[in-house]
Amino acid sequence: NFSTENSEKTHINVGTIGHVDHGKTTLTAAITKVLQKDGLAKFVSYDEIDKAPEEKARGITINAAHVGYTTKKRHYAHTDCPGHADFIKNMISGASQMDGAILVVAATDGQMPQTREHLLLAKQVGVQKIVVYVNKADLVDKEVLELVEIEVRELLDEFGFDSEKSPFVCGSALKALNGEDTEIGEKSIRKLLDVLDEYIPVPERDFMSPFMVPIDNMFLVPGRGTVVVGTIFRGIVKKNAVSELVGFDTKIKTSIGDLQVFKKSVPEAKAGENVGILLRNIKVKDIERGMLLCEMNSVKLSNRFTASVYFLSKSEGGRSKPITGKYIQQLFSKTWSIACRVDLDAGVEMIMPGEHGKVYLTLLCKMVMTPGQCFTIRENKITVATGIITETLP
Ligand code: GDP
Ligand code: MG
Repeated sequence: NFSTENSEKTHINVGTIGHVDHGKTTLTAAITKVLQKDGLAKFVSYDEIDKAPEEKARGITINAAHVGYTTKKRHYAHTDCPGHADFIKNMISGASQMDGAILVVAATDGQMPQTREHLLLAKQVGVQKIVVYVNKADLVDKEVLELVEIEVRELLDEFGFDSEKSPFVCGSALKALNGEDTEIGEKSIRKLLDVLDEYIPVPERDFMSPFMVPIDNMFLVPGRGTVVVGTIFRGIVKKNAVSELVGFDTKIKTSIGDLQVFKKSVPEAKAGENVGILLRNIKVKDIERGMLLCEMNSVKLSNRFTASVYFLSKSEGGRSKPITGKYIQQLFSKTWSIACRVDLDAGVEMIMPGEHGKVYLTLLCKMVMTPGQCFTIRENKITVATGIITETLP
């Protein structure tokens, strides 16, 4: 990766999504080619991107290329997956969470099945912003480009993205990659980079919401009391705050006696900081790893959720038989695990290993899970599925 180390620039994660052969990999290569001219990236060829080494995330093999480049304003880590299945796995497993996606649509085809599927998944995993590159502009008339734009804006609307504000750039990734300095060639790439800089916001830590700290560890400090350790997921934690420990069917009231960051007592700590927290009126044996320390009455416990789940194929170490509902196994997320029943969406009879779908989860006891939270399901210590929470049900 290029200039990741010394860069003072804000870091943003993006990725190319869209139907097979619409030009995702060509576009990724073209971006690095154009930026190399400005000394802002090292050119990565089409073949290097497409033959990215396999990587393992949560027991599944994903082919994904991570290409780094900087624009005038920011540093980007850009993910391009060679195959449709890789894309699905990359999104569902949360292997590279995108701050925004570049939807590539070939003007010669318009929207295609994988265009829709990728947009649906992007929405489910919490991608907020989409920038559209209408590709292969060298092969069609201006009228066709306009029609494709209308069609894709309707599609964005259908999937709940901002159909009016999402920027569209028309061009030819191939011409840009071949060094053509024309409107649809290199200029289209520069325009795309400008809209990325403008339209995809810098991911912000959430300091405003009620605080939440997933508990990684807890222990007794002799002479002082019970201490829990974790990284603040959101909000600001303050000394003396009345709080509750939530999870595994229980809510336990407590308050914050002391707060330490890097072994120094502090009056408050913010989202992103790793903290040790001395809790009042609580015993170590009452706490379980995976509980959350939350502001009083700020979260709801539930044992029913919807999720997007990918079942590993047999060659990935998954099951050989399909899932047909009422499937009970252990679910793992963050630092905890719990028995869970998986049911399929109405009208779906089965999900085959190697496929993905919407499922309903019922946990053995009530937990707090937030949309976007990743989990795996294991059967006899083998990962058989990876998924992401889409909704908490009452
Ligand atoms: P991906 O499957 O979405 O990654 O698509 P690729 O980048 O592999 O491109 C698929 C095919 O379309 C390749 O043969 C490319 O050379 C070709 N292609 C990509 N962009 C353009 C373009 O702007 N114009 C033309 N004519 N062909 C293109
Ligand atoms: Mg490709």
